[in-house]
Amino acid sequence: MPFNPDFTLPATESDRSLWFVFHEGRLLIKTGDEDQLIPRTRDLDFDISPIHKQYLGTLDGLPCYAAELAHNRIVADGFAFEGLRRLFGRLEEELIWVAGRANQLVDWNQNHQFCGRCGHANEDKQDERAKICLQCSLINYPRVSPAIIVAVIKDHQILLGSNRRFKSGFYSVLAGFAEPGESLEECVAREVNEEVGIAVKNIRYFGSQPWPFPNSLMVGFIADYADGRINVDKSEIIEAAWYSAQKLPPIPPKISIARQLIDWFVDNYAMPHSGKVASKRWQAR
Ligand SMILES: [Zn+2]
Repeated sequence: MPFNPDFTLPATESDRSLWFVFHEGRLLIKTGDEDQLIPRTRDLDFDISPIHKQYLGTLDGLPCYAAELAHNRIVADGFAFEGLRRLFGRLEEELIWVAGRANQLVDWNQNHQFCGRCGHANEDKQDERAKICLQCSLINYPRVSPAIIVAVIKDHQILLGSNRRFKSGFYSVLAGFAEPGESLEECVAREVNEEVGIAVKNIRYFGSQPWPFPNSLMVGFIADYADGRINVDKSEIIEAAWYSAQKLPPIPPKISIARQLIDWFVDNYAMPHSGKVASKRWQAR
């Protein structure tokens, strides 16, 4: 991976350094050149006056910075602020993930200005990515919130639901945050049961993906249907059903692990009468 994370400032600066500048969750981009959306040091010939700057590391050898702008002023001609999710597909995927890191760290910085124990101001720790209270020495690390995401399979069909939060009306695999004290596998079983009322078995790891909105780590699983009938909770999931690979509803965009799970299902279950799938079906029982 060409991104090399670090927190100590680089020895040499570059006028090509990349700046991921946020204000209220939106990223500063250059307008007018779709190939160079992320501003570089040489582009920022105006005062960006960040509230806080963090060094992220290097991407292909170029230093990367996260910064939080003090005011949502018109920064200069040729610049604009854009929501990160709206840049999916416009920005190269590598840059999306560095921007996601930056968003996550800017959010963490904003929400940890003061010590949660004694209320004194925090300072950046010099020897690691953390904040320390100079009064009581409590250390705060950037928060990462683990969440599971799971493809539940039953007889060549995948369980997809429509979540109240999905604005674009697509259907996706189920997901939910891990609770203190539970394993990720327990989380999978609990979330599926809570959201659609069914039991699952054969829970196995698929892969993971940071989801920096603002600080999730999505841990993907595949599970087999075990028992029960779909009964949606109506609070999070408003509709859920079993779908075959040939008749999928609208699904999430390519970049998400949700889509990778659905693509995995399609790759493995698209031809129900082939020998390959028959053996998988047998294995699942
Ligand atoms: Zn303190």
